[in-house]
Amino acid sequence: MKKVLEINHLKKYYHTEDREIFALKDISFDVNHGEFISIVGPSGCGKSTILSILANIENKSDGSINIEQNKKIAYMLQDDSLLPFRTVLENSLLGLEFEHNLTKENKEYVLKLLDTYGLKDFINQYPKELSGGMRQRVALIRTLAVNPDIILLDEAMSSLDYQTRLRIGEDLYKIIKKEKKTAIMVTHDIGEAISMSDRVIVLTNRPSTVKNIYEIKLKEKKNPIDNRSDPNFSKYFNQIWRDLYEDI
Ligand code: ADP
Repeated sequence: MKKVLEINHLKKYYHTEDREIFALKDISFDVNHGEFISIVGPSGCGKSTILSILANIENKSDGSINIEQNKKIAYMLQDDSLLPFRTVLENSLLGLEFEHNLTKENKEYVLKLLDTYGLKDFINQYPKELSGGMRQRVALIRTLAVNPDIILLDEAMSSLDYQTRLRIGEDLYKIIKKEKKTAIMVTHDIGEAISMSDRVIVLTNRPSTVKNIYEIKLKEKKNPIDNRSDPNFSKYFNQIWRDLYEDI
């Protein structure tokens, strides 16, 4: 499999007025085309920091990041972060507007995505008129609209209740796979990570390093909800659980 992204010895210090926070000590991993990667780790260990650096929102302190030429990264923020005063269509076009790239073709592509993923009848509605799941789908379509190769998902479903989370996880997973995107997801939910990912990267406490990388091999890879009942699921769950809690 071909690599789309390589991270080598990434290091990050934050400097605030009165102190220095050593967030990432030494993070290295690579990502293959079309892979779904999850990053799990204790709270505050620097998971979101990795995504912020990849999205160019934060600078790295040291190390290197190599992205395959002409490959584009897009960031889907925590929760859905839709603008309440914009309709579904207007929200979906936001990223393209930021990029000054709202061409007729691009708008048609977004309308097609909204149609494919069941939102055609809602394009003139406002976010408050939609269910949590639909809002999440709009947020994903807004991210897909700019045609990224790699999608960064930061605790995308953290505000939802458990059942909705399972259902939406399934939904996001299917769309990302169907659109053949590479995904890097940060989550604190071990089950979510195993059920959705090809590989799970486990980080240590801050300042973090990579503790383990698990290639998720299930007896039969299906959709995230079904993957949870695979005989190997609990094996990975127990291993990762131990990784995370043996330090505490
Ligand atoms: P996680 O996503 O694993 O919960 P974060 O990447 O959000 O962790 O944060 C890692 C550490 O860096 C935390 O101690 C956090 O308080 C600190 N941190 C994150 N962002 C900033 C910032 N902009 N300025 C200062 N410290 C920050």
